[in-house]
Amino acid sequence: MNLYDLTFEIETGMPTCGTAWHQTVQITSMGTIDEVGRNTQRIVLGSHSGTHMDAPYHFIPEGTTIESLAINYMWGPVKVIDFRDKRQGDVVTVEDIKRVGVAERMLFAFGWYHHWKTEKYYAGFPYFSVEAVKYLIAGGMRFMAMDTPSPDDGSAISIKDGEDSPNHKILLEEKIVMVEYLNNTDVLDAEKQYEIVALPMKVKGSDGSPARVLIREVTVS
Ligand SMILES: [Zn+2]
Repeated sequence: MNLYDLTFEIETGMPTCGTAWHQTVQITSMGTIDEVGRNTQRIVLGSHSGTHMDAPYHFIPEGTTIESLAINYMWGPVKVIDFRDKRQGDVVTVEDIKRVGVAERMLFAFGWYHHWKTEKYYAGFPYFSVEAVKYLIAGGMRFMAMDTPSPDDGSAISIKDGEDSPNHKILLEEKIVMVEYLNNTDVLDAEKQYEIVALPMKVKGSDGSPARVLIREVTVS
């Protein structure tokens, strides 16, 4: 079966968005087989650790939280888009989207996961123009996954001005299911057809959650 895992491993000290409001991951031992006859661990996560899903509550005060997000968009056919020709700082435009088309579930592969655990990962990753995001939503996209940290311009994050993360706000206002930090997207071929499953943990009241993301090639007869 052509089944692939697009998820980063969760591990102590893994990269996180370097701000005070993102938790660093720590996995530590509690019980051990030597001492108490079993191994148990404490797993400290942030809501945006590694491959994860954002819920509307991330940016919208009364927004839906992760346990209530519509599960029907988390499993089903997905259109894979190959944007691996996009370079550092490049923008995905409406023209780019018109060229590839819009589907209910879309996965954007930039190949950016290759920069995971390097300084480049958070520096100038390709992002979407606001017009492109609006065009995707108008075309019926309900699920958007990418192998970058964000659909927004990472170099322009400023929480003080009104320009902070406009794409996040537009997508989450429409309850689009958003998956960020995909791994391993080079296994995908935009010419082939796939089915994806992306499942967050069912954390009550959370603005997001790490997610396990699997994709399967579907052979059409
Ligand atoms: Zn996020």
